[in-house]
Amino acid sequence: MTATDKLYQRIGQFLEDHRLVPDPAHYAFVHAILTQPNSSLAKAAAELIDGGVRLHQDDIQRLGGPSTAGQRAVAPPAAPTPRDHLVDPAESRTDALAEQTQDHVEALSAMIRTIQADTSAFSANLERSAAEIRRGESIGLATLAKLTGEMLERIHDSERRLEKATAEADALREKLVEARASARRDPLTGLANRLAFNESIGQCFQSPASCYLALCDVDRFKRINDEHGHAVGDRVLSAIGQILSDEGRGHLVCRHGGEEFAILMTGLTMAEARALIDRARDAVREKRLRVRETGEAIGEVTFSAGITGFRPDDTHETVFARADALLYRAKNEGRNRVYAD
Ligand code: GH3
Ligand code: MG
Ligand code: MG
Repeated sequence: MTATDKLYQRIGQFLEDHRLVPDPAHYAFVHAILTQPNSSLAKAAAELIDGGVRLHQDDIQRLGGPSTAGQRAVAPPAAPTPRDHLVDPAESRTDALAEQTQDHVEALSAMIRTIQADTSAFSANLERSAAEIRRGESIGLATLAKLTGEMLERIHDSERRLEKATAEADALREKLVEARASARRDPLTGLANRLAFNESIGQCFQSPASCYLALCDVDRFKRINDEHGHAVGDRVLSAIGQILSDEGRGHLVCRHGGEEFAILMTGLTMAEARALIDRARDAVREKRLRVRETGEAIGEVTFSAGITGFRPDDTHETVFARADALLYRAKNEGRNRVYAD
């Protein structure tokens, strides 16, 4: 990964952690504090964040950031113009692929036009020769052989070019399949991401019977980051993702954002859906996580969850609102528990 990619990732993570919309001004602010960590702006921001507090838009405004999303660039220190830094690597990869595909299609159609021109020239020549034969005129075998030889040469040439183009098309197709898959995958946990989730949830609106949505939120996750650092926090999220993926095999397990996971279960009864999430909760709690480098125990990690069954008139908002309310209750009533309706 290049330094630019890493910086881009850190800025994205920061925006996500602080629930800041990724508008140009927020981006410029985060870019400024991450690239100039010793500046007074970065120090003031660090003081606010100390203890795991989330930065709000108002904080950024007070520190000299944007007044409303997206309009004003940050004054201190010389903030880069957002345009220079708003290139999404995934997007530019997709753009490059789209360009390659377009070039390929154009090259193919040019090739097809050449082949068409060659064959029609050949058939015109053949027709002329056939007419001469019909008229009883003798045409030399040598002429026919020359014509056929030329055409064969061109056919072989076209075959070679078509073969090369087919191989290129296959490689391009593979790249497109991979790009499509990685656009739907969360890079940290390897789980489906929100895009994949939103594409799949439609099935549950169409046939809501035996479809369930579980929202799982890691309990007191900020503590793990605060005590062991963000990198360890990331590994804990990865481990939780793996457990959820194992326990939820056959269902859609997605990292819905931050330390929240959404699981779409189909073909179960509510009791089975609940039992599945409870098993996952037990498995996470029983996992004895340690800091790899030091062996230090991370302590019990738990999550709380809300599960709701899809109803015929549900929309994305209504089903999420019910699961969220149940999750909220689970948090309020002590965490490390699952509530279902
Ligand atoms: P609660 O039990 O109420 O859910 O407490 P919490 O600490 O889990 O909740 P809160 O929403 O206050 O904090 C969530 C934390 O998760 C804050 C954020 O920094 C952290 N977080 C979100 N995404 C990531 C990530 O990708 N990696 C790491 N290391 N931390 C993340
Ligand atoms: Mg949360
Ligand atoms: Mg949490």
